This record gives sequence, C-alpha cells and structure tokens, in this order.
Amino acid sequence: MAGKIRPVRGMNDILPDQTRAWQYLEDRARRILETYGYREIRFPHLEHLELFARSIGEDTDIVEKEMYTFADSGGEVLALRPEGTAGCVRAAISAGLFRGGGAHRLYYLGPMFRHERPQKGRYRQFHQVGVEAFGPPGPDLDVEQILMAQRLLQDLGVPGLTLHLNSLGQPEDRRAYRGELIAYLEERRGRLCDTCRDRIQRSPLRVLDCKVASCQEAVASAPVITDYLGEASRAHFERVQALLQEAGIRFVHDPKLVRGLDYYTDTVYEWTSDHLGAQDTVVAGGRYDGLVAELGGPATPAAGFALGIERLLALMDSAQIPTEGLDAFVAPLDERAQSVALELSETLRDEGLSAWYHSGGGSLKSQLKKADRLGAAVAVLLGDQELAEGTVTVRDLVQGEQEAVPRDRAPQAVADRLG
Ligand code: ATP
Ligand code: MG
Repeated sequence: MAGKIRPVRGMNDILPDQTRAWQYLEDRARRILETYGYREIRFPHLEHLELFARSIGEDTDIVEKEMYTFADSGGEVLALRPEGTAGCVRAAISAGLFRGGGAHRLYYLGPMFRHERPQKGRYRQFHQVGVEAFGPPGPDLDVEQILMAQRLLQDLGVPGLTLHLNSLGQPEDRRAYRGELIAYLEERRGRLCDTCRDRIQRSPLRVLDCKVASCQEAVASAPVITDYLGEASRAHFERVQALLQEAGIRFVHDPKLVRGLDYYTDTVYEWTSDHLGAQDTVVAGGRYDGLVAELGGPATPAAGFALGIERLLALMDSAQIPTEGLDAFVAPLDERAQSVALELSETLRDEGLSAWYHSGGGSLKSQLKKADRLGAAVAVLLGDQELAEGTVTVRDLVQGEQEAVPRDRAPQAVADRLG
C-alpha cells in the first residue's frame, strides 16, 4: 500500500460536519455588511511579494518571517497573501476605482497564509472577513465600522467582548515618538527577550505588545504614543471616543496597542473575547490614510478591519445554526425500479425538496437504517409490487407509518409528511 500523504502543518481541512457553521457565519456576515452598503470584492490569493513588503512593512513579523514566498517558473517573486488589505487596495487601484475620488466600501472573505507556529486559534492557513472603506477621512467612519463589527459579533452570539482602542497618530508623530521609545528601550535592553532586543531599532513599537512577562514589565512605564499625537490626530481620536460613548459602546483606551502592520494611521482597535484563551483577538482594524498613495493610487483616506473566522467560529453560539435535514430517501429495491426512482428523485427536486437517491442496493432493513443515519424525514420505496401497481410506498421515518400512493402523487405525499 502506498504511504499516506500528510496534510501541510497548520492547514486544516474543513469537513462536511463543520461547513454548515462556516456557511451560516459567512451568510450572516455578507448580509450584515451589505446592510451597511459594503459590496464584495474578490482578488487573487497570490500577489507580487513587493506588494506586501511595501504595504505591511519590511520590518514587520509578517513580512520578515511569516510569508509563503516563492519564485514561479517565470522568475516572478510571488507571495501567498498574509492579509487582505494590501491585495484589496491593489485591486481597487488596478481597476481605477479611485479615479474621480469615488467612495467605495468593499468586503471580502477567504483564506490568508502565514508561516506561524500553529496552536489553538493560530493556523498557517486561516480565514478572514475583511472590510475596507475608501474616501471619508472622518472619525465617524471609524466608529461606523466599529458598530458594524459589533453588530456582526453580537449577531453571532459572541460572549465576553471588549473593545481596545488607541491612536497611532500620523507618521511624523510616530517618528518623534519612536526616537523616545528607542532610547527608553535601549536603557532596558538587558531585560528584553531576544526577539525584542532585535526589534528595538527596527520595530520598537512591537516591543510594547510582546507577551513575554519580563518585556511587559520592562515597558510598564515606557513613553506612550498618546503623548506625541499632533493636533489633528488628537482631535480625531477624541472625536472617535466621544462618538463611541454616544453610541453606548464601552472601550478601553490601551496606549500600548500598536498592531503588527506599518500602514495604520490614527485609529487602531481590537475586539477581544475573554472566552478565547491566549489568542483572544477576534477583530482587528483601524485607519490607513497613507496606503492607497503608497501603492501608487491617488491619496485616499481609508479604514477597515479584519475578523478571524476560526476564532469567531469558536465563540459563536452554535444553537442558532440551522440543522441539516434531508427530505426524502428514495430507494429502488431492485434494478428494475432504478429508472423510475431516478425520475421520481428529479421530480422531488423540481418541487424544491432534497432527495437522496440510494444507489447500491442492500436489504430493505439496511436501507432504512441508512435513511435514518442521513436524517431523512421520509423514505420513498419502490419495489416489484409498487412498479406493478404504479405506486410508491411513502414511509414517514419520524412517525414510523407508511402508505402506498399513486406514483404521480408521490411528491405531494412527501411534502404533506414534511408538514
Ligand atoms: P494576533 O495578535 O492574533 O497575532 P494579528 O495582529 O497578527 O493577530 P491581524 O493581521 O490584524 O492579526 O489579523 C486580524 C485577525 O485575523 C486577528 O485578530 C485574528 O482573529 C485573525 N488571525 C490573524 N492571524 C491568524 C492566524 N495565524 N490564525 C488564525 N487567525 C488569525
Ligand atoms: Mg499575528
């Protein structure tokens, strides 16, 4: 026997028992996002590596060590998308959507790829729902997106939510802050983990959200970006907070929340749940006013968020997922009944019913067992006697009763049994 081929580590199969929950979540997400005027965009899972390097940032963990990168046989250096914003913006620029300053609200669903250490809530292929809005520069857009994320999370029954909020200001605010932070970190170099020592010069903000205890202690009294915000950013941030308060959304201002992607400006936030364990962020987002121009489009303010589908599924109230049902199990009891049974199955489907045509024979008893395992409500049986009489036997698998009905009345009889 040939050896089994293993799945790729950190990449999960989503099996039929699980897909119902996925479909339900995706369906709810689409509906809710569309009620806010967002429209779906689909773009490739592969892009030029340069797109991610330029947008997410050369010195970020994602670009430095988490991307799946390769040269194709034509020598083009490509990468599997580690997140959606870069590809979404690239697609919108490619299509000229920003010409004429058009406001666009886009969403997408699909797999992202990061070579991280697999653990609960962290996979190498994972899935996101992402939203991006282009055009309005105001804090009201940020707040509407937060409301939209909240609606999505609440609709799916997610418990224990907290919104963490911060402002990263404009690039010039960050430059001033960065210098101060580097000086502070250098003084405490000896207390930082190896990764963070490496980050001091290249990516000092990331040290602030390192999970290692000694790093957290070392940054406890580090300078915070909040004290370095320029006038406009300070006003933007205050307005976001005021609008959230008026909308009745509680939040925690976390001055050390930095996010792992370079393109953010001003507002950043994360929704966490206390039901998730270590990987507790379910939605992350913010504003990125510089990215469209950075990728060669016209200067266009923008904001968005991404929601981790696997984490949301782990939190979702599964009681609301509609159960799977099969209406009819259609069994030809011998070969002569096959063509009539095939035709009858098609007729049931014409009526909008689901029908499992049983192929493969077996005793009546074993077939009824199978119908039961499939969760069928009704079995439609066709044997010699039924063929001779032009009838079918319709058996109610819930009540355990059965009746013979003329063949042309079979769909109605099945429908009646289904109530
Ligand atoms: P984390 O802090 O969990 O590493 P991140 O800052 O890397 O998240 P983003 O790039 O902002 O995450 O992605 C948004 C969301 O996508 C996360 O909040 C999370 O729900 C989900 N996510 C990110 N990386 C993974 C992963 N490797 N496996 C599963 N879900 C993920
Ligand atoms: Mg991460």
